[in-house]
Amino acid sequence: MGRFHRHPDGTAHTHDRDDHHEVRDHRVGDHGGYLTTGTARISVLEDILSENDRVAAENRGSFDAAGLRAVNLMSSPGAGKTTLLERTLEAFGGQLRIGILEGDIATAIDADRLEGHGAEVALVNTSAGFGGECHLDAVMVRSGLGRLPLHELQLLIIENVGNLVCPAEFRVGEHARAMVFSITEGEEKPLKYPVMFRAADVVVVNKVDLLPHLDFDLDLFLSNLRDINPDALVIQASARTGEGIGEWCSWLAGQATPKPAA
Ligand code: MG
Repeated sequence: MGRFHRHPDGTAHTHDRDDHHEVRDHRVGDHGGYLTTGTARISVLEDILSENDRVAAENRGSFDAAGLRAVNLMSSPGAGKTTLLERTLEAFGGQLRIGILEGDIATAIDADRLEGHGAEVALVNTSAGFGGECHLDAVMVRSGLGRLPLHELQLLIIENVGNLVCPAEFRVGEHARAMVFSITEGEEKPLKYPVMFRAADVVVVNKVDLLPHLDFDLDLFLSNLRDINPDALVIQASARTGEGIGEWCSWLAGQATPKPAA
């Protein structure tokens, strides 16, 4: 039995060993098969993902009942999610009632950075009882929702654990998915890690202020990204200089629920 994986349309399946006897386009898709045998492993994974999807639907129900919209924010470690959120909260200046669910394997470093910027912040450490997971799943997100005043919020931003693979495999009840990509990561990343790039509704291409100092080929990256995800909104930004923050905030505001002041 091959590796279990999920497509952005929500379907999930395995590639059997025989699949890998085919000649494939190595540039796209997830075709790294584990040559494990037997059905136990795959049925356990199916159970985990279907339980995750059940809880994700419950989370979505909680968001809808509270009248807020949720955005799942994903990236590699160090791409700039937290810095982007700091600039975002500063830009909104409290005009939008935002909650942030901060996912990190360990520490409150990022949650502490986001305190005092006018948002409600709740931290979920995935090392506590979850074995140091590399992503947030729907149950972990649910565990943090009780610490946020959902009915007072228009927008919940879920800052996922920094990881370019796992977070895209788990729905958490979000209405939209955003990805931060740092140009220091290299042009080829959409081809090598297609699942997250394909899952994203918007890709924030961060740290563009570094373009003059790197060999990064922006046009090649954008072409690679388009090959994987022709539909994503692409925003070139620098959380450090503020470039692109306005466009990003416009997209976020478009996701948020219009809500009269409580
Ligand atoms: Mg962070």
